[in-house]
Amino acid sequence: MARPLTDQEKRKQISIRGIVGVENVSELKKGFNRHLHFTLVKDRNVATTRDYYFALAHTVRDHLVGRWIRTQQYYYEKDPKRTYYLSLEFYMGRTLQNTMINLGLQNACDEAIYQLGLDIEELEEMEEDAGLGNGGLGRLAACFLDSMATLGLAAYGYGIRYEYGIFNQKIKGGWQVEEADDWLRHGNPWEKARPEYMLPVHFYGRVENTKTGVRWVDTQVVLAMPYDTPVPGYMNNTVNTMRLWSARAPNDFNLRDFNVGDYIQAVLDRNLAENISRVLYPNDNFFEGKELRLKQEYFVVAASLQDIIRRFKASRFGCRDTIRTGFDAFPDKVAIQLNDTHPALGIPELMRIFLDIEKLPWEKAWEITKKTFAYTNHTVLPEALERWPVDLVEKLLPRHLQIIYEINQRHLDRISALYPGDVDRLRRMSLIEEDGVKRINMAHLCIVGSHAVNGVAKIHSDIVKSQVFKDFSELEPDKFQNKTNGITPRRWLLLCNPGLAELIAEKIGEDYVKDLSQLTKLNKFVDDNAFIRDVSKVKEENKLKFIQYLENEYKMKLNPASMFDVQVKRIHEYKRQLLNCLHIITMYNRIKENPHKDFVPRTVIIGGKAAPGYHMAKTIIKLITSVGEIVNNDPVVGNKLKVIYLENYRVSLAEKVIPATDLSEQISTAGTEASGTGNMKFMLNGALTIGTMDGANVEMAEEAGEENLFIFGMRVEDVAELDKKGYHAREYYEKLPELKKVMDQIQGGFFSPTNPDLFKDLVNMLFNHDRFKVFADFEAYVKCQERVSALYKNPKEWTKVVIKNIAASGKFSSDRTIKEYARDIWGVEPSDLKIPPPNEPRDTAEDNKAAAPAEDNKAAAPAEDRKAAAKDNLALAGKMSTKHL
Ligand SMILES: *Cc1c(COP(=O)(O)O)cnc(C)c1O
Repeated sequence: MARPLTDQEKRKQISIRGIVGVENVSELKKGFNRHLHFTLVKDRNVATTRDYYFALAHTVRDHLVGRWIRTQQYYYEKDPKRTYYLSLEFYMGRTLQNTMINLGLQNACDEAIYQLGLDIEELEEMEEDAGLGNGGLGRLAACFLDSMATLGLAAYGYGIRYEYGIFNQKIKGGWQVEEADDWLRHGNPWEKARPEYMLPVHFYGRVENTKTGVRWVDTQVVLAMPYDTPVPGYMNNTVNTMRLWSARAPNDFNLRDFNVGDYIQAVLDRNLAENISRVLYPNDNFFEGKELRLKQEYFVVAASLQDIIRRFKASRFGCRDTIRTGFDAFPDKVAIQLNDTHPALGIPELMRIFLDIEKLPWEKAWEITKKTFAYTNHTVLPEALERWPVDLVEKLLPRHLQIIYEINQRHLDRISALYPGDVDRLRRMSLIEEDGVKRINMAHLCIVGSHAVNGVAKIHSDIVKSQVFKDFSELEPDKFQNKTNGITPRRWLLLCNPGLAELIAEKIGEDYVKDLSQLTKLNKFVDDNAFIRDVSKVKEENKLKFIQYLENEYKMKLNPASMFDVQVKRIHEYKRQLLNCLHIITMYNRIKENPHKDFVPRTVIIGGKAAPGYHMAKTIIKLITSVGEIVNNDPVVGNKLKVIYLENYRVSLAEKVIPATDLSEQISTAGTEASGTGNMKFMLNGALTIGTMDGANVEMAEEAGEENLFIFGMRVEDVAELDKKGYHAREYYEKLPELKKVMDQIQGGFFSPTNPDLFKDLVNMLFNHDRFKVFADFEAYVKCQERVSALYKNPKEWTKVVIKNIAASGKFSSDRTIKEYARDIWGVEPSDLKIPPPNEPRDTAEDNKAAAPAEDNKAAAPAEDRKAAAKDNLALAGKMSTKHL
């Protein structure tokens, strides 16, 4: 048999990762050496692996610059409607490989780095994740940016440049320990600071009524410094911008008024202002009403809206008429999507700008605001819904509170007119909750202030309409929509699973990368023995590679013949890692009771971060690691069952574990997981799903056929019924001997011999106040897992189902999701704009005003074209100044 190809060789063969031209490779090598010398100021004797990473990053970045500038010039010239995605989180992960893939440079870079005697994967591993998100919501924003650029939308992401992203998780003694994520320590080659676009953001102060209108005065000012990161589309020469704001103290901060004497203290106190962008709040699906978090939410909104309005006014459309009539065009030129309620203050902030600065009348301002904003709801869990205390908002943003009250007054007047005497409805629909401390219901504010409200999977949107915001959907049924989430196939297939991506391309061509629905063509090959063999071989190779990674990093040894049964996601009671854990213990007990019985070997991998203040989630981690300690060291169990806690789950680790997974665990209580996106990544990468009828699992089953997923347990209706009759955990415990044994073991200290009481809170929760009804699904789950094992025993039949799942996963491309947002909510057309490649000089007609920078023309353009291009560029630059940014 031939020697297996090395990764290096494999990657060279993959055509969808770009063409390897000789000139291409030698240019890249030149660029690399130039950056190592001039940018890193190193020679190869003293350069570290990190230096090599930075040299490659800068080399690749050079290929973005021309396209980036040109894309932005194009937007300025053509002035399409802009789409703004406002989000407190952008969970981007690494950028180098994604850039190479989207620019078609991966193969050429592989070859160049290989010729330089270096290992490109080792270089890629040096990059820090941009961990500016908690989980699904933040990663969704990142996938959306990729799809918006790939579809050629004039889109921008606006967020915060946290100095510290999501904490790094260490497991010590089986417990989670947090470490600060100092991701910028070595510098970030992908961002460009734009100090010339710095903007003031005001806090505190008071409201003054003058003859000329309302003024917000005596405020504290913090400056917002923008940092731009390029967002390349896939092979389309489009490079959009993600603009993240960093807080800066003004130079006179604390040096006016009373503090003139204490200069040193005033300089030290600059930290107070700059703390606004210091750290990402590490809560997933949980509202913590901290003042600093409210400041973050207003900070991003205030800076972004100033920027959006500046860009609107700089456009030819905005300038053509007077400003006043110009703002009527605002919703034709601007769409703002709110990623959950976190940027909800955008609504009263835009009203404030229109009313107090632009002097528009209320009705006009409100009409424009509503037409501009749209709101995406991400959860129905009550503890996650933002309800800011009125007192806090009044102190920090007094003018905004006035505006919110006015919005509420008019909103309630309307309800009263429609439902005379229905005071309970008024209470339910008010933006202000009056029971206990007065609070602002931010979801209500978003619904009232937007023209569209969407959930993120069919079942979730139905629950939003029929339960959580029932009164609102009754009032304005057409406002409510569904936009089922998606994932970008570039990162979640091409980048993380090149073997599978290429195998698919061999069968159905390469176009599926931009049109994932074409994966249905794979159905032709479900019974093709060679294809079945190749698909299972790719999985096996991915597993071996992941095993190698764990061995290098953690000295763990995994059994490649075992089923990789994986649950990776934030640790949360509603996601029910506990149910998974009870199943592990059940398998353990079965092996112990019947050691010689045939058992399908499993490696159960669980990973995810717990919010640092979420005690129960941290205890769940400790339970899983404690169970692992017993199971993994029991000689009777041997290779049949292993339990791995995967430390520090994050985007770059997801890229490693997901392609190596056989079984994807998506087992939330029906009605609690809005969509999930991890489920989609696994499906696309050839894992089978064991899951409840929750979130997007429902649509995955619809696409693939329910018989091709392992669906078990209560449906939403069953959960509701059980709630009505009353959930009594003890009944299941008494009725199910295996459950009883498992619980007796946990309770009796079997997994915590030195501290038998360790899990008593957890046990008490499961018996007495389990909101997520773990026991109610235990029996169905364990039975379903038996079906999983039975199928896994037959590798060929397993792989056939895998192929059916991959073939059915096309719907879950974020390209599809974004097309729906564009059509139904933003009113923009994909592919409206065709950005020419940078090395094709354009003809002398209308287009040549935005000719490419000379630098990018060098390779192909004749000298004359280059001169013309340079001249045009200069002329255009003079005319435009820097407005187009
Ligand atoms: C996709 C993703 C998530 C979301 O996973 P769910 O299973 O949908 O909760 C969380 N974290 C990371 C790092 C991801 O890549």
